[in-house]
Parts: sequence; structure tokens; C-alpha cells
Amino acid sequence: MNISEKKNIVIVGAGFGGVTAAIKLASGCASKKFKIMLIDKNPYQLYTPALYEIAAMPHENANAVALSHAITIALEDIASEKHIDFIQGELASLNREQKKITLKNGALVEYHSLILALGSETNYFNIPGLAEFALPLKNFNDGVILRNKMEKLIREKTGVLHIAVGGAGATGVELAAEFISFVCRLQKIYNKEQVCRVEVSLMEATGEILQGFSPWVVKKARLRLQQIGVHIKTNTRIVSVNAEEIKTEEESIHYDLLVWAGGISGPRILQSLGLPLNKKGQIEVNQYLEAAEDIFAIGDNASFTDQSQKPLPGNIPIAEGQARKTAKNILRAINGQTKKPYRARNKYPYILAVGKKYAIADIIVIRFAGFFGWLLKQLIELRYFLFILPLKKALPLWIYTIKTYSAND
Ligand SMILES: Cc1cc2nc3c(=O)[nH]c(=O)nc-3n(C[C@H](O)[C@H](O)[C@H](O)COP(=O)(O)OP(=O)(O)OC[C@H]3O[C@@H](n4cnc5c(N)ncnc54)[C@H](O)[C@@H]3O)c2cc1C
Repeated sequence: MNISEKKNIVIVGAGFGGVTAAIKLASGCASKKFKIMLIDKNPYQLYTPALYEIAAMPHENANAVALSHAITIALEDIASEKHIDFIQGELASLNREQKKITLKNGALVEYHSLILALGSETNYFNIPGLAEFALPLKNFNDGVILRNKMEKLIREKTGVLHIAVGGAGATGVELAAEFISFVCRLQKIYNKEQVCRVEVSLMEATGEILQGFSPWVVKKARLRLQQIGVHIKTNTRIVSVNAEEIKTEEESIHYDLLVWAGGISGPRILQSLGLPLNKKGQIEVNQYLEAAEDIFAIGDNASFTDQSQKPLPGNIPIAEGQARKTAKNILRAINGQTKKPYRARNKYPYILAVGKKYAIADIIVIRFAGFFGWLLKQLIELRYFLFILPLKKALPLWIYTIKTYSAND
């Protein structure tokens, strides 16, 4: 069959959901009548569970190039091994009638089926000053910018450093914990200080940290954060921010550096695609994860509600699970079989790193905390690398990441 006669199954967004869907489709499309096209604005996939390491990595341990080698995986490497066509390009528009998408560079791509897996953006909830003065942690550049700003502050500021982290979800907790050891180490090196002079505040609008996590994880995380010196401020709603102060409903708090990890929304591009969106700008999907005919949405950019009407959290097991279900349903449709509905689980496994080589693992069948939690986090990373890359690439990458991040502990 001529290549041009093949029909395209197009996946836009090569994060955890998009890459999983592409691999599953490529391995299931034995008929060769279909071409699996994976499109992403970046040439790499970002391994987000280690992003907190980038934001807290001293420059002398790893420069930005070394860090990018540890946390990004070239999409060409994934695609070439798995018979996937990778295109670097940014989605600009969708024409549902003609079943085509347009990329920012003007390229038109026809699709037989389309999977949207664009992830999310930081949600500042229109809080005055927040987007202007707070730093996010969503992508590789955010991590490097945070690290650089922190190092500059440590060099230049005398007295206690006031770091505030807004939002005590998993990202906020991991970051707050890692910042303590990062600042203390650099203060010793740069300023020859024996006493660590930093105050890290973790601010949360609701009454508890880690909303949606099991009470066991919350208790363990609270204890660990308190032990390493993070100030947990629950029921603390940020109402506005200026260059020096965070205003909450009760008080004004001085800060030197503010990180915002308080929520996500759907990527802005979704607003112009003509698909149904929820209040957070995520694509509303039915029980088959369909947003419209032959258009599926998975992972963070999708809004799936089951009978309980509770929105699903944004995490990797959900993005991957939805990717697998969508790939199966597309393959079933190709083979003339009926689709099967996606069913959300009650619980999802998660490993939360809380400073140095300590992590809290709640993987449904078993839960534990400490060094073995951290070790399991590394093994899960290896398992993922082995899923997307051949052994000869996965193993050296994994060893490199462990070496690079361990320099921080
Ligand atoms: C700092 C941090 C730490 C995290 N840690 C964990 C963790 O330990 N465990 C866990 O389960 N979850 C974690 N998460 C959440 C997890 O990363 C997400 O839930 C998951 O990545 C969602 O997968 P996805 O495929 O929906 O989107 P993503 O993995 O975000 O992928 C989206 C992709 O779409 C691409 N894209 C966006 N817009 C366009 C466009 N217009 N055109 C083309 N491409 C586009 C992006 O470049 C990206 O590659 C973390 C998130 C962050 C920010």
C-alpha cells in the first residue's frame, strides 16, 4: 500500500497520555492501513515527577544542559523505535467537517481519528498580581528559572530568606520539602553560614494539605514536612500579591520568592476548537472519552465525570489509563467491534517525594514511607523508560538521572 493511502490516527500532545496512546496504537495497528502520527510543540517528553529536582538543583552540580538530558526524552527516540511518525508542531486550529488540524507553522494534517492530549496550564484563578509575581512549575524552563532565581537570592540576600509556596497539592509539597535542603546547602557554600536561614511556608486555601490523598499519606507528609522545617499554613487563601507581599484573608506576609502550584486549567488553545469545555477549560468527554465524532480527549486536558460526578485528579496513572482505553477503542472500531466505556477507579497509586531520598508510596496494595519509597519511585521511572525506549537507551538514561539528582541530596 502506498504511504499516502494510509489513514492517519493523530495524537496531539506527547506527554504521558499521548505517548502511551501512540505506542499502544502502533503495536495494535498490524493491518498497516493506518499511520500513527504523534505531534508535540516540543521535541521531547518531559518527565514531570522529577521536575522538583530541577528547581532545587545547584548550578555547580548540573547546568541547564545536563538537567535537560536528565528530565527530557527525545520524542524521535521514542517514535523511531515504535513505528510512530513524530512531527514537532503546535496545534493551532481544528476543522471538524474536513477532519483536519492546522499547526502553527501552517501545516495541515488530516485525521481518521484524533486524540487530544495537550495537558494543562497553571491556573491563577484571576487572583490579582499572582500571575505577575509568582513563579509556576509546569515545564523544564520553569524549573531552571526557579533554580536560578533561588541561587541569586541566596547569594545576594542577607538575613532570613522567605520562600512561599502557594498550593499544598503534590507539586507544592514536593517543592517546599526540596527547597529546605537546597537553600541550606547553598547558604553554607556561598555565605559560609553554619545556621540555615530560610523560612519555607506552604500555603493552602483549604483546611488540609494534599486534597484527595488518603489520610495516611496526609498524616505522613505533614509529619515529614514539620520535621524538616516547612511551615504548613492551611485555611490560608491568597487574595492578592504584589512585588513584596502576599495578602491573605487575615494578614500580609512578606516573601522573597513565591511559587504558585495551586491549580490547573485546560490549555488556552482548547477555547478556540469548538469542543465542549468545563469551567476549568478542559474538554468534556463522554463515557468513551469522546468529545465529538472521531475526536477523543485524554489526561489533564479532559474532563471526565463518572456517576459520582467528582472530577478526576490530574495524574499519570489516569492519563495512561485513558490512553490505553482510547487506543483499544480506536482499534476495536477499526476491527468492526463495539467500543467499551472508560471506568474511573476509586484510588490511584502515587509516590510523593518529601525531601532528599524520602518518599511516601501509596500504591493501593501496599504503602510505606522513607528510603524504600524513594527507591520505588526510581524503579517506576525505570519501568516507564523501558516502556518507551529500548533497553540500551532506557538503562543509561535511568542511571544518568539517578546520578544527576543524587548530587542534590
Ligand atoms: C511538577 C509536577 C510534578 C508532577 N508529579 C507527578 C507525579 O509524581 N505523579 C503523577 O502521577 N503525576 C504527576 N504530575 C502530574 C502529571 O504530570 C500529569 O497529570 C500528566 O503529565 C498528564 O499527562 P497528559 O498526557 O495529560 O499531559 P502532559 O504530560 O502534560 O503532556 C501534554 C503534552 O502536550 C504538549 N502540548 C501542549 N500544547 C500543545 C499544542 N498546542 N500543540 C502541540 N503540543 C502541545 C506539551 O508539550 C506536552 O508534551 C506532576 C505534574 C507536575 C507539573
